[in-house]
Amino acid sequence: MTDTTHGTIESHSLEVESYPPSAEFTAQANLNDPAVYWQAAQDPEAYWAGRARELKWTKPFEEVLDWSNPPFAKWFADGELNVTANCLDRHVAAGLGDRVAFYFEGEPGDTRTITYGELTHEVKQAANMLTALGVTAGDRVAIYMPMIPETIVAMLAVARLGAAHSVVFGGFSAESLRARIDDARAELVITADGGYRKGRVSALKPTVDDALALAGDGQPLSVEKVLVVKRAGNDIEMQEGRDLWWHDEVASYDGEHTAVGFPAENPLFILYTSGTTGKPKGILHTSGGYLTQAAATHRDVFDLKPETDVYWCTADIGWVTGHSYVVYGPLANGATQVIYEGTPDTPDWGRWWSLIEKYKISILYTAPTAIRACMKVGRQVPEKYDLSAIRVLGSVGEPINPEAWRWYHEVIGGGRAPIVDTWWQTETGAIMIAPLPGLTRLKPGSAQVPQPGIDVNVVDDQGGRVDRGQGGLLTIRRPWPSMVRTIWGDDARFIDTYWAKFGDQYFAGDGARVDEDGDVWLLGRVDDVMNVSGHRLSTAEIESALVEHNAVAEAAVVGADDETTGQAVVAFVILKSQQTLLSEEEAEAALKKHVASAIGAIARPRQVFVVNELPKTRSGKIMRRLLKDAAEGKEIGDTTTLADTSVMQTISQRMRAER
Ligand code: ATP
Ligand code: MG
Repeated sequence: MTDTTHGTIESHSLEVESYPPSAEFTAQANLNDPAVYWQAAQDPEAYWAGRARELKWTKPFEEVLDWSNPPFAKWFADGELNVTANCLDRHVAAGLGDRVAFYFEGEPGDTRTITYGELTHEVKQAANMLTALGVTAGDRVAIYMPMIPETIVAMLAVARLGAAHSVVFGGFSAESLRARIDDARAELVITADGGYRKGRVSALKPTVDDALALAGDGQPLSVEKVLVVKRAGNDIEMQEGRDLWWHDEVASYDGEHTAVGFPAENPLFILYTSGTTGKPKGILHTSGGYLTQAAATHRDVFDLKPETDVYWCTADIGWVTGHSYVVYGPLANGATQVIYEGTPDTPDWGRWWSLIEKYKISILYTAPTAIRACMKVGRQVPEKYDLSAIRVLGSVGEPINPEAWRWYHEVIGGGRAPIVDTWWQTETGAIMIAPLPGLTRLKPGSAQVPQPGIDVNVVDDQGGRVDRGQGGLLTIRRPWPSMVRTIWGDDARFIDTYWAKFGDQYFAGDGARVDEDGDVWLLGRVDDVMNVSGHRLSTAEIESALVEHNAVAEAAVVGADDETTGQAVVAFVILKSQQTLLSEEEAEAALKKHVASAIGAIARPRQVFVVNELPKTRSGKIMRRLLKDAAEGKEIGDTTTLADTSVMQTISQRMRAER
């Protein structure tokens, strides 16, 4: 990071309304006694030890936290457990084998219902197959798959053997895949012929072939075998001696497999961050602490009732949200889930809502980018479906603008369902800041409260807490169970990236404000904070002000170099598709005025550009650094994690024309 004087951030909160939990909700909530916060704060280690004991340990732990060699934490290090057995065998042993683990819906409309008993059987067979292929504890397996049940089976089979998986999102290129395979030195790749996306077959295996044919990092190729799941039936080549069909292989193994325990600090997975701010980092997570926090937060934050809820997290398995809140957290809790292979607009924008109606989904966890996309299409689409089973809504990935929050609450949640805005990162492994729906008076746009046992702070450059009402840097002071253990193979980068700034506090890279009640508001990446005439302004707040305007569906704001003000606010907006009242020029003028009146003259954008798309990572986050390059007329930086590279070409052409 070049700018070392992040300092405090000015914050101009918009009007805040709040939504107390209903008496009915609180009465039935898993957590409805606010004492949980102070009890956990009294002795966080004891609190987490208690949560860890909710899991099944093959060897109970005595040690809770070992912080003798900071910043390398060890949790429950002398204990042993099998992560997969906690997600599967434990429930079957408790008589829950007939409970549905997954309702799978393929994009073309094919469906499968898989019980805990069936999933356990499949994972055991797969574990036997992987053992025969030479996978043992300590190995790494790369997984490059669509959103289908076998992906989850593969992850759980790898984990069952004490090996680590590295899931690479199926949209990544051969180069990105190869870089991740080399970095982890994976010996096996599990893939599929293809998957369905946007009504078409999207091939995967040919990309694996290309990846393995590349020169790589100069070391000998680590991959020996490629296992291929047959999903889309597209034509692919199988390389003799290297490539094997999953279904051919797995059929010859039986469903008996005894899970053994591994030390709590055994690596569980490596996962690369989404690359919003630059080169992705290979985040290493281990077993006991990770599973403890993923399971505990999943139960608490979503108020999960495993016997009755149907839970759907729309995240792809290729992102940390898919790891913690599709695979490990929910399965450890014995939840019943829906997984859907495709995109929300296939065959039309009603697809998600039809799934909610069909499966009576009661908990929905998705991202602001998806909510804003649905807002852009309009409420008349979800209004055609029966969404009355919904009782809790979740949001993750970016700050959710209050306007999107209200739409989500009203249109999807029927004005009843609480929204939990969950702040966390690949590095944190599990939710860190979020309301507890039975306890928290909700404020649209704020993630609000650190989870019990989590020590979040908003600090100034010296690491001292800022006063209430002020903005600063979000840090975490005390180690937490699911924290990143290191950047794979690069301890120095781990220390440098997260600990160099404050020494004893983990610095997440995000700016935040604490309000008068002590609630936390995320203000966006510190690297994106703008300095306009000496005022440090947050991207998130100006974007929220823009989205408040009824013509705007989505907005991205950057600070571009400016001769007079140092930096100037430049806004890129997508208008709602139903809005026809304003021409582009009128909208641009109206929006400048709107921001000035909502936040103050200092935040008035120098320019507002109406665009059709915004550059996003494949995980759906806005890539502001590319927009900043465009706004400054510079060469566009690294676009490898961009979902659609043509977006930036269109925007920069447009910018050049304006100059
Ligand atoms: P990279 O670290 O490679 O730039 P990334 O930070 O986008 O990528 P993730 O770990 O997937 O990768 O995302 C974590 C980040 O997402 C957080 O640091 C924060 O900026 C943002 N974020 C996630 N949830 C929220 C939320 N509820 N509110 C505000 N911001 C959020
Ligand atoms: Mg990050």
